Amino acid sequence: MVRIAIDGPGGAGKSSLAKRVASELGIIYVDTGALYRNIGLFVLRRGVDPKDREGVCALLPEITLELKFENGRQVILLSGVDEGDNIRTPECSMAASAVSAIPEVRAFLLEMQRETARKKSVIMDGRDIGTVILPDAEVKIFLTASPEARAERRFKELSAKGVETTYEKVYSEMVERDKNDSTRDIAPCVPADDAVLLDNSKLTEEGSLKKVLKIVKKKTKPHNFYSRAKIIVAPPFRFFMRVKAYGLENVPKYDGFVICANHIAAVDVISIGAVCPRQLTCVAKKELFSVPVIGWLCRKLGAVRIDRGGADVGAIKASIKAAEDGKVLTIFPQGHRYPGVNPITTPVHSGAALIAYHAKCDVVPVCINVKGGKYGFLKKVEVHFGKPISYSELGFVNGGRQEYQDATDKIFHAVCALGDYESLPKYIPGSRKAPKRKKK
Ligand code: C5P
Repeated sequence: MVRIAIDGPGGAGKSSLAKRVASELGIIYVDTGALYRNIGLFVLRRGVDPKDREGVCALLPEITLELKFENGRQVILLSGVDEGDNIRTPECSMAASAVSAIPEVRAFLLEMQRETARKKSVIMDGRDIGTVILPDAEVKIFLTASPEARAERRFKELSAKGVETTYEKVYSEMVERDKNDSTRDIAPCVPADDAVLLDNSKLTEEGSLKKVLKIVKKKTKPHNFYSRAKIIVAPPFRFFMRVKAYGLENVPKYDGFVICANHIAAVDVISIGAVCPRQLTCVAKKELFSVPVIGWLCRKLGAVRIDRGGADVGAIKASIKAAEDGKVLTIFPQGHRYPGVNPITTPVHSGAALIAYHAKCDVVPVCINVKGGKYGFLKKVEVHFGKPISYSELGFVNGGRQEYQDATDKIFHAVCALGDYESLPKYIPGSRKAPKRKKK
């Protein structure tokens, strides 16, 4: 999961830049200024002076603001209505600036903004995102430009929309808004201590985008045991097992999700991990944690420990939390390894669907395809990543056993559809031998 805060004065180009970054990274863009603008609009319509703290506070209980996302696009409903460009007028800009200096207004909007970034990766623009709203954001950028450059851009933007104004008027209003925003007592528009300053007065939009993407990449690069182990293990594994990945573009870049894969051998997880650009979190049976070296590895890699003897509520809760925290939970719904048989004919468990339901996350079907259905030295291993099955596609209404089973069937059909299993024999119940294990 990644949270990117972009703060800076009006006209610095935060919103167009943030929109492009969001679409490059496949995350949502939150324009917090639009929330203040909606309140400014409401106050103006009620004939109250936006600088009148008491008057504005008296109106707050009457304001219903809803912030939602439709196909990744932000929609704000003010008393149930999307006000569109009505909030973009110069009067509304000034009113937004005035109401935003009122502590009660900021408190009114605080939780709504934080909630949006709780379970989804976001890029959020505003004035106080890095300092107040998301002080733990992984990436903080303070974007600015000279007042002249910003006024010029804003003037062009307004003229293109047919708003009658002059450059001089836009410039003087901008300077006034800058002063209001940066000198107010509460949440002034100042860079966070750990923000990267970016002056784009002389940069093109393309140049700014490249810079921001570079900053995000640098700040979110994992430096942990997993990434170091991957550097050592993945290249020789990929080479000797001839592992090839397909559909990597289907792997969400930042948000948490569940990978559901077919299970052929214990090395399946290495095959997926060797090619998947995201760090995997696996669910490992508790017995593995007491095997020397493997147990240590499981702990170092943050595997979720599961007791397969019964319903392990702790493991389920830990798995849900992992997906909610933006991790990639890897689950083999078959529960056992079934080498050499057509996976669609084997039994499947519905744990992955249950986790997706509670974590409200998507599921990515992954199919491991080895010729003949069994691993072998220098045999070609194909790892296919299918299109994510979104939470809404999984058909959950109230959860429950039947819904989990139906969702599991849907997921596992998607897994098997990625592979080439027609020629493999059907699984005969009871025919599969459990892996041999020495008794202690
Ligand atoms: O970004 P935009 O120009 O749409 O913001 C309108 C006004 O809302 C700003 O002038 C600023 O005063 C206020 N604002 C704020 N904090 C934010 C976002 C906007 O105070 N996070």
